[in-house]
Amino acid sequence: EKCKSIIEGLAEIRVKSNKVFYNPVQEFNRDLSIAVLSTYVKEYKEQKIGKTKHLKDCELHDVPFTILEALSATGLRSIRYAKEIPNITKIIANDLSAQAVDTIKENITYNSVGNLVDASHDDACMLMYKHKNPRMRFAAIDLDPYGCPSIFLDAAVQSVQDYGILCVTATDMAILAGNSPETCYVKYGAVSLKTKCCHEMALRILLQSIEHHANRYSRYIEPLLSISADFYIRVFVRVNTGAQQCKKTTSKLSMVYQCVGCDTITLQPLGATKPNPSERNPGQLKFCLPAAPSVGELCLHCNQRHRLGGPIWTAPIHNMPFVTRVLEYVTENPHLFGTAKRIAGVLSMVREELPDVPLYHILDKLFGRVHIQTMPILIMRSAILNAGYRVSFSHASKLSIKTDAPARLN
Ligand code: SAM
Repeated sequence: EKCKSIIEGLAEIRVKSNKVFYNPVQEFNRDLSIAVLSTYVKEYKEQKIGKTKHLKDCELHDVPFTILEALSATGLRSIRYAKEIPNITKIIANDLSAQAVDTIKENITYNSVGNLVDASHDDACMLMYKHKNPRMRFAAIDLDPYGCPSIFLDAAVQSVQDYGILCVTATDMAILAGNSPETCYVKYGAVSLKTKCCHEMALRILLQSIEHHANRYSRYIEPLLSISADFYIRVFVRVNTGAQQCKKTTSKLSMVYQCVGCDTITLQPLGATKPNPSERNPGQLKFCLPAAPSVGELCLHCNQRHRLGGPIWTAPIHNMPFVTRVLEYVTENPHLFGTAKRIAGVLSMVREELPDVPLYHILDKLFGRVHIQTMPILIMRSAILNAGYRVSFSHASKLSIKTDAPARLN
């Protein structure tokens, strides 16, 4: 049988069968995950030891950091994690397919990482449920399935440590982007809409879904980084426990009203946040939202009816100080990543995103709606700034305009 050899990062893997999944386009996803986890390991260990100052290397070894790659295929990702992320205790590379597990085992030996990586042949959910006892939980769980991750979420939110990190990929973009709103509701518990900002909407639907699963067990998420790239989305969220915090979930979610005539989007938060200027809570940012239409009310701008989507996550989707640390790690170690330039580019855009403005407009569509010739995006941005509003791009689209300017000036 022919054997393919693949080199990525510090790993060299061999794949015998075409039945074992390997996708070279996902190198960016793996590189980004390594950058995120390398940054996170230290923060996690510092939090567990309860120190704010930096730890010495010997102290870092005292806190275990185990990673579960629940859907591992060739083992490439786990082997790269073992070779490229400092201060890891153990990685479990799991797959349901016997052929995949054989490939994982061979690659562990071939890369001499048997001291750090264990192969596991199990259903991802069964394996996670076996680790839901707090003493057995993983510091990090990576879910990188074909298509939709939702069937793994119930187990994942229970088997990750407090202050641990969940890394989740979804590739079923058609469903998340509004091609099948009914299926999206079935899988994610939210109705997707066909809109120009569908990539960010997809991220917010997935975050909402993870939060919903977590809440059942008095746990809640804090998004660290949420990325739309190529044909998939990838989110990194911290998980914690706290019934009081869970009560704040409704204030982090909104229903989405989309006008069928002019496409204007209006958000209706599920829960009201009590305005309290002394409370500074990043999960509770007050949004500059226009008053949402009441059910059945027609669009203010064109008198047409609304389509209703959501609920979506409308609290911040990134933790900016964390994003900055990941960006620093990549710019200080560009030799570690084949896609270093792209990661730096994407994270720089993420850092500029207005954190308290969900969703965005797309320039040419916006101009098409009002039947005027489109202008260069920089001129449009200056115009918005001159009018006294804030503006940024979104990493999810080149022609995006994120702004707190209202759709209509009264
Ligand atoms: N993470 C890999 C990487 O970065 O190269 C790719 C994973 S591939 C997209 C998805 C894998 O999930 C397949 O190898 C498949 O056999 C496995 N899989 C599907 N359902 C599973 C389940 N219930 N439990 C464990 N593995 C499963």
